[in-house]
Amino acid sequence: MTIKHHLSDQLLMAYSAGDLPEAFNLVAATHISLCDECRARLAAFDALGGAVLEDTDAVDVSEASLAACLDRIENLPQATHRQPLRRAGCFPAPLADYVGGGPDAVKWRNLGMGVKQAILRTGRDASARLLYIPAGQAVPDHGHRGLELTLVLQGAFRDETARFGRGDLEIADEAVEHTPVAEEGEVCICLAATDAPLRFNAIIPRLAQPFLRI
Ligand code: ZN
Ligand code: ZN
Repeated sequence: MTIKHHLSDQLLMAYSAGDLPEAFNLVAATHISLCDECRARLAAFDALGGAVLEDTDAVDVSEASLAACLDRIENLPQATHRQPLRRAGCFPAPLADYVGGGPDAVKWRNLGMGVKQAILRTGRDASARLLYIPAGQAVPDHGHRGLELTLVLQGAFRDETARFGRGDLEIADEAVEHTPVAEEGEVCICLAATDAPLRFNAIIPRLAQPFLRI
């Protein structure tokens, strides 16, 4: 598996500091579990963050690191009262643990044309969902009001910008308007997080949006 599309420095830094909303945190943790490159970059940011805290005076250190620590605990995908799950099917450990299993454990809802979706329970500041896109099928083209992270777990999709295979992460913002199409040959399963409702171009998806909660 060769991952070509990674977390940005900005996202890795925010992840390291525990500043990401829960939905983005889950996508970042899942990508990092698949990606040696981002894991190494994260270690560097973690070390840098520690060094910055050590440089400030004593009172600030304890307050800042306590806050960062509490933040991080709050943003952990799940309270661990039990053994964390290992990977399940195409779901890496952080996601399998969050969902409580693999794709078979997910309560999928049909969106039409064979496309299925499952909304995950996360904090209100951003939402996460799993997408199941049959081979060759397109997701309606849409723009974004905020930030959208899409991580491929199985299969691959292409849009106007590039091809995304397992482990690849697409970062889309206001500037991106795209029509992701699943590649032929295999069902494409993705984990996506957005911090604002998507802005669909076609009238029907727009009407359906409140029901789909995407
Ligand atoms: Zn990466
Ligand atoms: Zn998008």
